[in-house]
Amino acid sequence: MYNTVSWSNILLKVASFFVVLSIVGLILDAVFMVLFFGAIFLLLRTYWQLRKLEKWLYRSKKMTPPTAQGTWGYVYDGIYHLQRRHRRKQKELSRMVKRFREGSEALPDATVVLDNEGSITWCNKLARIELGLRWPQDSGRRIDNLIRHPKFIAFFHSNNYNQPVEVASPLNIQKIFEYRIVPYGEEHLLLIARDITGVTQLEQMRRDFVANVSHELRTPLTVINGYLEMLPDNGEIPKEFLSRAVSEMGSQSKRMRTLIEELLVLSRIEANAEGVFDKIVDVPKVLETIESEAKALNKEKQHKITFDIDSELRVYGSESELRSAFSNLIFNAIHYTKAPGKIVVSWKIENCQAKFSVIDNGEGIPSLHLSRLTERFYRVDKARSIKTGGSGLGLAIVKHVLAHHNSKLDIQSKVNVGSEFSFELSDEIIASAKPDALMETN
Ligand code: ADP
Repeated sequence: MYNTVSWSNILLKVASFFVVLSIVGLILDAVFMVLFFGAIFLLLRTYWQLRKLEKWLYRSKKMTPPTAQGTWGYVYDGIYHLQRRHRRKQKELSRMVKRFREGSEALPDATVVLDNEGSITWCNKLARIELGLRWPQDSGRRIDNLIRHPKFIAFFHSNNYNQPVEVASPLNIQKIFEYRIVPYGEEHLLLIARDITGVTQLEQMRRDFVANVSHELRTPLTVINGYLEMLPDNGEIPKEFLSRAVSEMGSQSKRMRTLIEELLVLSRIEANAEGVFDKIVDVPKVLETIESEAKALNKEKQHKITFDIDSELRVYGSESELRSAFSNLIFNAIHYTKAPGKIVVSWKIENCQAKFSVIDNGEGIPSLHLSRLTERFYRVDKARSIKTGGSGLGLAIVKHVLAHHNSKLDIQSKVNVGSEFSFELSDEIIASAKPDALMETN
């Protein structure tokens, strides 16, 4: 096909054209004139074809070329062929780009493609949502003009991207992002920002926990140590001092023991998530034991404590865990109610569920503390809580126990009126109850 526009072909065509013209010229006896007009005609025809070509290439919206004969026909066909190949390649490329973009949009991290100057070439949807980039308005803008945190700017200009950097989100300082920069291709950078707020919070909680435990243990140890240092060197210990020191050291070591025991209970409960509903817990019997312990604890304050217990209401669950939850709530009511107060403990069916509640007319809790009460070591009044021997872990234990039993703690409280701590266990885990109790509420 391409042979047709080869040099020999062109020469042959031009030569035959001029031979024909020369013959015509000889016949008309005007060889030069005919050759001259022939050459003009050839030139005009070539320009006319060029103009047609230019019109098709730049002004026509048609893909198919204009019809032409001979060499020009081949030229048009060639261009048409090239154009189609180009379009096919373009389509393939845009399909690839589309697939790449869809893939990047599906990434769980904010992703930004930068050129070697640090200007944005492309960013995914998460980058728009989490980093506040606008697309396409921010295309070509430098990333360090848009993420202005000094830590990020220092990292970006360090040219050492081996270690990621943790920086607060430009839109929400509560959110922490881990920025990574990966150079790729010859002169592109991929910026990946991952939301690590949850991980940071967990790490913070772990640090707080260790700090809290150390602090809680350090205080009683300091007291004990203080008394030991105050002991006279000559061994003559005044009787008065000795009795005060022994009693104080005793209560501080008791405080440490309680704390450690409760920490162990908490970690045991956290670790044990399975097999909670294997056994039936005789709750009335458990509450009977707690009632006698509560009486002993109540000797000094002499609150009026009433136990209103459905003697047949048992549930499936973990006896040691439920015992811990019941006793924590009842003993707290005794501790945080001024003498002589009123406390009502009840365990019965309510709305088909087994409901446990402890109501007191104690000091109550300001509402701003309510949502945080079940956090470890959270206390409304730290000094008072320590005086009562509280470790600050009681309600955290209750929360975990209830989570194991698919329930949660409800706290209602009014300052100087009293509090109600209650929870409900679903009818699914009720093992036995007075049939009429279930009937009534049904
Ligand atoms: P603690 O060992 O300090 O008692 P808890 O986790 O059992 O720790 O309780 C957390 C805090 O909740 C207590 O320090 C106390 O301030 C408050 N609290 C708990 N129960 C009551 C209650 N019945 N009345 C008033 N405040 C309470």
